[in-house]
Amino acid sequence: MLANLTRWVRILVPQPKHSGPFGARCALVGEALRGSLRWLCVFIAHLPAGYLAALAVERATSNTAAPTSASRALRRALLVGAVAPDADLLWWWWVDHGAVHHHRYATHLPAVWLASLLLATLWRASAQTAVLRGALLGLSLGALVHVLLDTVAGDIAWLWPVDDRFLSLVRVPATGGHWVLSFVTHWTFLLELSLVGVAALLLFARRRRPGTKEGEGARSS
Ligand SMILES: [Zn+2]
Repeated sequence: MLANLTRWVRILVPQPKHSGPFGARCALVGEALRGSLRWLCVFIAHLPAGYLAALAVERATSNTAAPTSASRALRRALLVGAVAPDADLLWWWWVDHGAVHHHRYATHLPAVWLASLLLATLWRASAQTAVLRGALLGLSLGALVHVLLDTVAGDIAWLWPVDDRFLSLVRVPATGGHWVLSFVTHWTFLLELSLVGVAALLLFARRRRPGTKEGEGARSS
């Protein structure tokens, strides 16, 4: 069955050849396809990971303070931050034409988000700027969740600016069939699907529970 699947994937998504000007162009298209698939897969995991992090923040702070506009802004910005770093794919494709790994951009540098997290933590916000501070805090936390998830099977320069080498937890080996299959048959893909499943279950449970934002939304829709 896997052999048949491999044959069909090879027909539908040909592997790029890497010789000559045409080959170089094919290689770039192949990279774009690979990046797009990766983006699609991690996008579906990044947003649920952000949702789980937002729930964790809500749970951690629910005993100490009532929800405020700042805490709501924090949780919403956390969801945005969980996917925002991948916006650099637009620059990677349209401006740099795939010349550099998009994880080299500032949006994927943990040092940038740790600095903004520190800034938000030290910010003595007034009543007028509390929402802005909450949003910066959430955006930084969400982006850190994003780069953490990217580190599982991707490359992230965690030691930048001291060392710009990429670090990753695991390498997805080529299975010999096709890069699409190498990716979707690796356990890291299962991890991403699990995040999607857990987040969907929790969202469903909250929508059924009265007294939550999701529950109110479910009843009014
Ligand atoms: Zn990313």
